[in-house]
Amino acid sequence: MKFTDSRIADLIVSRIREMGLNLRVMHVCGTHQDTIVKNGLDVLFARCNVEMRQGPGCPVCVTPPKEFEEAKLLAKKGCILTVFGDVVRVPIEGGSLADLRGEGCDVRVVYSVEDAVKVAKSTNKNVVFMAIGFETTAPSTASVLINEPPENFYVLSCHRYVPPALDALLSMGELKLDGLIDPGHVSTIIGLKPYEVLTAKYRIPQVIAGFEPLDLLMAVFMIARQLSNGEAKVENEYTRLVRYEGNQKALSIMNSAFEPCDVAWRGFGVIKNSGMKIKKEFQGHDARLAFEDELKVIRDKEFKEPVGCRCSEVIRGLIYPQECPLFGKVCTPNRPIGPCMVSIEGSCNIEYKYGRLSLRFNRS
Ligand code: SF4
Ligand code: SF4
Repeated sequence: MKFTDSRIADLIVSRIREMGLNLRVMHVCGTHQDTIVKNGLDVLFARCNVEMRQGPGCPVCVTPPKEFEEAKLLAKKGCILTVFGDVVRVPIEGGSLADLRGEGCDVRVVYSVEDAVKVAKSTNKNVVFMAIGFETTAPSTASVLINEPPENFYVLSCHRYVPPALDALLSMGELKLDGLIDPGHVSTIIGLKPYEVLTAKYRIPQVIAGFEPLDLLMAVFMIARQLSNGEAKVENEYTRLVRYEGNQKALSIMNSAFEPCDVAWRGFGVIKNSGMKIKKEFQGHDARLAFEDELKVIRDKEFKEPVGCRCSEVIRGLIYPQECPLFGKVCTPNRPIGPCMVSIEGSCNIEYKYGRLSLRFNRS
């Protein structure tokens, strides 16, 4: 089957329309957003009276300014800072991590945590890897930690668990949501169980979806079908890759290196048990402990969001990027004001990439 077959798409759309519902659905994945905008799926959704919102689905966007400041400080103190490509351009007070190079700091872009380890093996200097990502990337970081990395290698763990953020979002109740589309990659690791807890608590239908246009249309159809039948359960549309129990091996590696801790998310504040703290056994590689003294100066400091930036509301699905007055005018991928315009999984970047400077249709 072709996952872009327009005849099947039309059929699914007409089935959703037949149910005659008016729905607001949120998904929490940057790649889902890319598929939706690139293929104009939200226009199709609007035709079936389905309003689609993106929630906290980009790991770079939800990382708050303070964690970037920690990385910045460590680079300034002489560590080699290794980061993923998008991370280096996120604006923080006084510039970005990339701008630090102008001050003589050694900030390098790596494609994987293994690359960061290679850097550590090639030098006597301390190397810090700024580990950003959800359950998808955390097992790789964990695997490095449990396999005796070089002594001069440190992880600044900015990893986060997705389910506690969904819990926080639903408990805030800012938006009345009729259903959630759960992220495909994260779900390959965690399986269905963590979502079932949320559905039991909030009685909200959830569907795990793949990344093709038909996957997302089917996910909406499945949510609509649940609501029509008066059901609320977790369904798996992405059976090609997601198993009920998830990836046990990856989970066990992740759980052997990390334990939950309370951590702040951009746009949310502190979410209980949503952060991944490096376990005691591997604390020799925990940048926050190894450089505790250096980081002390910012421990209790608050860092502000960029002036005028509305990323916090974009991340909570409260506004669309085009509703930010800076979108496409002051804030562009070349001169980003907030992380949502930098990250390839950020809502603002995706809207800009496909040239959508204004909302193309009325979603009210
Ligand atoms: S890591 Fe994968 S599942 Fe998570 S937000 Fe990014 S694309 Fe989506
Ligand atoms: S357009 Fe720019 S300033 Fe506005 S929310 Fe998006 S990233 Fe932030």
